[in-house]
Amino acid sequence: MSDPTKQPFGTVFAPRMTVCTHTDDAWSEWKTTDVEPVSLHPGAHVLHYSSSCFEGLKAYRWSNGEVRIFRLDSHVARMQKSAALLHLPIPSPEVVKTMITSAVKENVEHIPDYPGSLYIRPTLFGTTVDIGAAAVPSTDAMFYILCSPVGDYFSGGLRPLRVLLAERARSTPEFGMVKAGANYAQALGPLLKAKAEVQADQVLFSPAGDTQETGAANFMLINSERVVTRHLDGNFLHGVTRDSLLTLAKDLGYIVEERGIPTPELIEFVKTGEAGLSGTAAVLAPIGTFIFDGTEHTVGNGDVGEHTMKLRQALVDIQAGKAEDSHGWLSAP
Ligand SMILES: *Cc1c(COP(=O)(O)O)cnc(C)c1O
Repeated sequence: MSDPTKQPFGTVFAPRMTVCTHTDDAWSEWKTTDVEPVSLHPGAHVLHYSSSCFEGLKAYRWSNGEVRIFRLDSHVARMQKSAALLHLPIPSPEVVKTMITSAVKENVEHIPDYPGSLYIRPTLFGTTVDIGAAAVPSTDAMFYILCSPVGDYFSGGLRPLRVLLAERARSTPEFGMVKAGANYAQALGPLLKAKAEVQADQVLFSPAGDTQETGAANFMLINSERVVTRHLDGNFLHGVTRDSLLTLAKDLGYIVEERGIPTPELIEFVKTGEAGLSGTAAVLAPIGTFIFDGTEHTVGNGDVGEHTMKLRQALVDIQAGKAEDSHGWLSAP
């Protein structure tokens, strides 16, 4: 097989997965299988009413060969919340944890060395066969843990991103915080338009000038003194990377402000400050340019900012086992 870390993110899969199904009000025992097509009735709930959600987390292989999963408990807890908001059954946190650690162990030979990693994708969807169930939850469900060996997200170097500020919401005031498939479909139109019209890499959704996040990453402003990011509410996904970076920012002596960021303040801040996008895949990606109302606004001098890199480095050093895991974020599978 060709080197998976040289392939586009998410296109190569480790050979084994853990899986269980919910029927007749009970979860089956979970089992390990080869990654193979799943069989679904064409009338399955998820195919019609988008009853699906997922998680995304990583396992790292250190230079001494040891494997660590980053913030397993936080991802398990978020998956429980997503399932509850979609009214889908979900195995207990203990079972979800065991299924994740077991999937990692099953695929341990397929975890690339750091800075590569094993991206772990717990996936849940409704399988009740009933196309009349538009207003009824799916009582049946399938849950599995799929794993994908991935390379360094920035193997081509850190290139500051071009981000279009769009005055619309990504999702809704309640479902923004759910890692639900339908949210990503909703955000596609504006993103494709922004790519075609202004060569943007991402869209920062800012309905009525109220900054939320991009299609799959949280947003933060950073300078020598402070880190500013949106307060937690239902409008956006509560990133584990966001939480980790804010914790490290406090450790490093930055003032952390969680509050609304109106567009005019954002534009003013980035004249001298920095801005970044946070998420499991990229950790913290620098923004070099904002496009707003037909005008380009360069962030600082347009290059990768010093404080963005400092924060990013603090987190990747923990993930790589090069810095002390003082917050207890890593666990062996
Ligand atoms: C997954 C995701 C994030 C980042 O969450 P992490 O837990 O940091 O990976 C941010 N926004 C959206 C919409 C996401 O789907």
